[in-house]
Amino acid sequence: MAKFISAIMKITSNIFQVGGQALSHQSDAAVYLIKSGDEAALVDAGTGKGSEDLFSNIRETGTELEFIKYIFVTHCHYDHAGGINQIREITGSRVVAHALDAPYIESGDPEMTASSWYREDMDPSWVDIKIPENEKKFTIGSLEISFIHTPGHTPGSSVITLISDGLLILFGQDIHGPLNDLFRSDRQEYEKSLKFLLTLNADILCEGHFGIYKGRERVKDFIESFL
Ligand SMILES: [Zn+2]
Ligand SMILES: [Zn+2]
Repeated sequence: MAKFISAIMKITSNIFQVGGQALSHQSDAAVYLIKSGDEAALVDAGTGKGSEDLFSNIRETGTELEFIKYIFVTHCHYDHAGGINQIREITGSRVVAHALDAPYIESGDPEMTASSWYREDMDPSWVDIKIPENEKKFTIGSLEISFIHTPGHTPGSSVITLISDGLLILFGQDIHGPLNDLFRSDRQEYEKSLKFLLTLNADILCEGHFGIYKGRERVKDFIESFL
């Protein structure tokens, strides 16, 4: 049976959704591409089960795989981080994650990465840049990217923000949670992080499992619904 693959989604002139449930593999969280000139980055890596489709989607946006400078990993979960090694191998990109989640990406711990939920093994992956602080800036072409620690879902959960086409874009992959003792979620930290995200007044939210929210009011309503 032919596999259903939906079209790549162009979000702004710099941002595309290239992976996710309908784009690369049913278990993949959303994978977003950020590009500017001949530099690019990915937000999350999917499970690795749909990497071939992910690569062809990236190429379809006019992006060479070698342009990908970083893989920004929002947290250690299998659906976001399982595909790191395959992407790094072919792109030569550097993997960025918060220092509090990096140990689980590197060990492949089945509970902390939630791979046991998927009845899969997480491929342990080296993290090149472990961010110990609250916020770190990166550049992709002419874009400035902020990697910001927003703990709660997991200890090292983080978001990525940037301005593209004059709009503030927020990549909040697992803003919706869930919270679970198995992966050391923390309700208090989570609520604090959500309140911080509301102060950003983002114009577009790119979520990991719930799609793309456009407009400040819609973004705000989505975030508030978890408070
Ligand atoms: Zn998660
Ligand atoms: Zn997820």
